[in-house]
Amino acid sequence: MLAGPRGGARYLRNGRAVPVTDELFREDAALLECRARVLAAGAHGVRLDRTVFYPQGGGQAGDAGALQLDDGRILTVIDTRKGEAPGEILHLLAEGSDLTGLRPGTELTARINAARRRAHMRFHTATHLLCALVPHAVNGCSITAGYARLDFHMNEPLDKEALSAGIARLVAEAHPVQHRWISEAELDANPQLVRSMSVQPPRGQGRVRVLEIEGVDLQPCGGTHVANTADIGAVIVTKVEKKSAMTRRVILGFAEAAEG
Ligand SMILES: [Zn+2]
Repeated sequence: MLAGPRGGARYLRNGRAVPVTDELFREDAALLECRARVLAAGAHGVRLDRTVFYPQGGGQAGDAGALQLDDGRILTVIDTRKGEAPGEILHLLAEGSDLTGLRPGTELTARINAARRRAHMRFHTATHLLCALVPHAVNGCSITAGYARLDFHMNEPLDKEALSAGIARLVAEAHPVQHRWISEAELDANPQLVRSMSVQPPRGQGRVRVLEIEGVDLQPCGGTHVANTADIGAVIVTKVEKKSAMTRRVILGFAEAAEG
């Protein structure tokens, strides 16, 4: 990734520097909106020079929200996905959206649905706590606004109440959550950092983002997280399932939803 004008990100493709989206959410998951310029717009979605929208990946669902044009029009973003080319992020618009006036260079404000993202961040960080509590490889993961599930490669039984208590303890201990970037060489020298069998960290940019929950968990992860385990709040294990001989599935829910 090279620096471009106005901080615009560039990706080297076939020796050419191609503009891609500056991924603001990687450095600051608390950002809810940003100004951006359109790179391309069409029925397939809208690409921007920078965005706060997280594209579905690493098990985490994509963001929803809105693109607000300077004439006041609001376009609803129903989901965010990665495009076919490396670094492409597509903001998917609601069916029938009016793309009039949306051309390369058009400035707008990109704003995510804060409640949905907050849920993703709380559940996502809670899945890291689960990884710390269950010392087995992960072979599946899904994080949505309503629940999160994590599949562990193991055949021992798991105790639902004990896991809920373990999560509650780590939340109460208020561990700081931080990301940093390490080189691919450093990752190769520490293969134990890769906890997930199904999601390998993205390669080819020379660096890998790792997520550290101080004293609890450290692993490559590109997702969005809360800044402290205390911000996870009341998350409980709602179900433990034996999916196969070597897979135990753990499902997380918000305690407030379970009570409500
Ligand atoms: Zn993560």
